[in-house]
Amino acid sequence: MASVRLKGVYKRYPGGVTAVSDFNLDIEDKEFIVLVGPSGCGKTTTLRMIAGLEEITEGEIYIGDRLVNDVPPKDRDIAMVFQNYALYPHMTVFENMAFGLKLRKFPKDEIKRRVHEAAKILGIEHLLDRKPKALSGGQRQRVALGRAIVREPKVFLMDEPLSNLDAKLRVQMRAELSKLHKRLGTTFIYVTHDQTEAMTMGTRIVVMKDGFIQQVDTPQVLYEQPANLFVAGFIGSPQMNFIESRIEQKDKSLYVVFGNNAIKLPEGKAKKVEELGYVGKEVILGIRPEDLHDEEIFLQTAQDAVVDADVDVVEMLGSETLLYVVVEGLNLVARVDPRSKAKSGDRIKLAFDVNRIHLFDKETEKAIV
Ligand code: ATP
Repeated sequence: MASVRLKGVYKRYPGGVTAVSDFNLDIEDKEFIVLVGPSGCGKTTTLRMIAGLEEITEGEIYIGDRLVNDVPPKDRDIAMVFQNYALYPHMTVFENMAFGLKLRKFPKDEIKRRVHEAAKILGIEHLLDRKPKALSGGQRQRVALGRAIVREPKVFLMDEPLSNLDAKLRVQMRAELSKLHKRLGTTFIYVTHDQTEAMTMGTRIVVMKDGFIQQVDTPQVLYEQPANLFVAGFIGSPQMNFIESRIEQKDKSLYVVFGNNAIKLPEGKAKKVEELGYVGKEVILGIRPEDLHDEEIFLQTAQDAVVDADVDVVEMLGSETLLYVVVEGLNLVARVDPRSKAKSGDRIKLAFDVNRIHLFDKETEKAIV
């Protein structure tokens, strides 16, 4: 069993920085958990506490059923892959991968078997005699992974392992890591500040900010039902549009009003907004770029959900087009069909997909609907 459990974990550094606060998380066996958040949110500290490289100030960490608070890193049955790979320059790839096993006095045959097996999985068998300086960045990254794989750990910990690779290789390695995770059938705990990496690899994602967990869920739920304004803005690119608005009632219907625009809320959302007492109150309206439409078919069917927009910049990306527009002084982004005819300087109509509107409390920033 390679579950990992953190219970009420805190990390306070001397000098008063609380890097991690009341961190509670149950990671199941074989999960690919990604910790994501902006720089300084406490991701690396959390990972280092799981690894045993950082003492915890308060709380408990379990690996499997074992409380590991006082277990040294080498006895935790984990392997860590760092951002800078930390390969030994004077050793060959084989020696780099074998090093940890040698230290642990594994028999030679077993070392050879494990190194060759890991090299095969990673497609680096032909590089085993080379020194790190004769490798590309991606190959070095694979060696670093190989060194972790040969240990056959219960849990892999990875801290931004792809950040030194160029964009193309990063995309390729993302897919390879997902495959590796399936193939090894082990628990992965992965740290990144890149929400795309988190969304593409994580079976569950932990979004952190200022040392606190903001939300833990699958990529899809995080995207579709963000718990608060921070998660809504952090997950998704380009980010969700936010509009300061007010809820108003007219003829038994509820509208989200900003400037001269009024977007009618669908029944389900309206009911909840009313029940929670938001009629007449200020809220923040959130709408993802792909939920703003300029196609005729949407404009015709969207009742009370169309606004006038001035097109500022048109970005054609091939499979989609981004329209940077201004609606009553507000900058919004719409992700539209690449066949869209909108040009810079045009005044167009944009329809809100009202079923995909998010509303957030202005004070607490928590999601209302
Ligand atoms: P990054 O993506 O930049 O690596 P992170 O989310 O991994 O950020 P941490 O490295 O965990 O963040 O740092 C969390 C907070 O703890 C930061 O405010 C950081 O300055 C602080 N911190 C980290 N290490 C120490 C230390 N040894 N002493 C004091 N404060 C520290």
